[in-house]
Amino acid sequence: MFSKILIANRGEIALRIIRACKQLGIQTVIAHSEADQDSLPVRLADEKVCIGPANATNSYLNQRAIVSAAKITGAQAIHPGYGFLSENADFAALIEESGLIFIGPTADNIRKMGDKVAAKEQMTMAGVPCVPGSEGALPTDSEQVIKIAKDVGYPVIIKAASGGGGRGMRVVEKEANLLSAIAMTQTEAKANFGSSIVYLEKYLQAPRHIEIQVLSDTHGNAIYLGERDCSMQRRHQKVIEEAPAPGITEAQRQQIGQACVTACQKMQYRGAGTFEFLYENGEFFFIEMNTRVQVEHTITEMITGVDIVQEQIRVAAGLLLAHKQSDIKITGHAFECRINAENANTFLPNAGRIDYCHMPAGFGIRVDSYIESNYIVPPSYDSLVAKICVHDHSREQAIIKMQAALSEAQITGIDTNIDLHQRLFEDKVFCDGQMSIHYLAEWIQDNI
Ligand code: ADP
Repeated sequence: MFSKILIANRGEIALRIIRACKQLGIQTVIAHSEADQDSLPVRLADEKVCIGPANATNSYLNQRAIVSAAKITGAQAIHPGYGFLSENADFAALIEESGLIFIGPTADNIRKMGDKVAAKEQMTMAGVPCVPGSEGALPTDSEQVIKIAKDVGYPVIIKAASGGGGRGMRVVEKEANLLSAIAMTQTEAKANFGSSIVYLEKYLQAPRHIEIQVLSDTHGNAIYLGERDCSMQRRHQKVIEEAPAPGITEAQRQQIGQACVTACQKMQYRGAGTFEFLYENGEFFFIEMNTRVQVEHTITEMITGVDIVQEQIRVAAGLLLAHKQSDIKITGHAFECRINAENANTFLPNAGRIDYCHMPAGFGIRVDSYIESNYIVPPSYDSLVAKICVHDHSREQAIIKMQAALSEAQITGIDTNIDLHQRLFEDKVFCDGQMSIHYLAEWIQDNI
């Protein structure tokens, strides 16, 4: 096992990693920006190295500075958290070339899954169902493209192979708009992601977003930890997540989970990962894989009792997974509310001083956060300031627990979306469950 790990991240996830390390008896070094020097995770790490100014390009995205910080402090491995460099194959390669260990999958795993066309090909080979569409990148010949779209059936969606963050996608309703939409998506993809390769998929009308959490070690063992429903999204950003997904049977879970495990074993995947699916009319369709720990890993931890971050660290050190598939039992129901520092009407990020902060606590309530009274939220980063999670015996009881937790949460001095969450946890359709990915946008249109 490692004796010292460098954390190349900030905020709640940096703190989450520090906590996992403390419990494993590992020393931590945090690489931080000037803007974060007084933050809670920087104070709680055993050592700290300032790697640059607030601007992430010169700090949290500065690969060489991060690797140097690890070398200087004698850390043996680097945990990238989520966001920033967590899915950057070159960073993973640089770390390994420097004689350190990247706490995540291999550079090759990241590269393959980061190219969505290649990822879909791998999944198809492993027997994981994908959204029907062009098999591979779209050809240049217009006649062929028109035929592919006709065979798939309208509406279709054009997607950039290297797209991410909900960008680089365009829905096409009819043949007359197809070629111009492809040309526009290609131009945008080239400008934003450096590659003009696009592919086509059937546009599913009202799917749910359901994802499978996996863990894989370097000895050929892989397990799935059930699913999460992340359909409550605004502009492809998740707002509320829950686990397990309402209405999914144990047989369905086993079937899709086993398909993901097979895919992990085929590609010799290492660490934690998430297979994202659209789910419609009882069927799962793979859309992409995230090769890192996700924000919402907490709710899976609550229903399975598995510490996902500790497992990431253990398997990166070459140890066996601590759990077998037969050990994994799903118990009760969990929700996560992402508390963002943002304006309640415009949803624009909102930085500044927090006058007073009180987070809920108690039986079955978990808050992952790094903010405190008098903390100044810097404008330079993601607006997520806290994750309020609850766990209870049933979905109904978990809803009641979340209502109570939210009513206790207080952040004054800056705007947050706590109110939005409170209203959603009173909404009848949401409380009934099984909403599509469009429900939140429609609700906001009708209610805000
Ligand atoms: P990104 O990597 O940018 O997050 P994804 O491929 O994961 O892109 O898609 C993001 C979101 O876009 C999905 O959660 C879903 O809301 C929507 N989407 C993507 N593909 C389709 C599709 N074929 N049909 C309907 N909606 C889709």
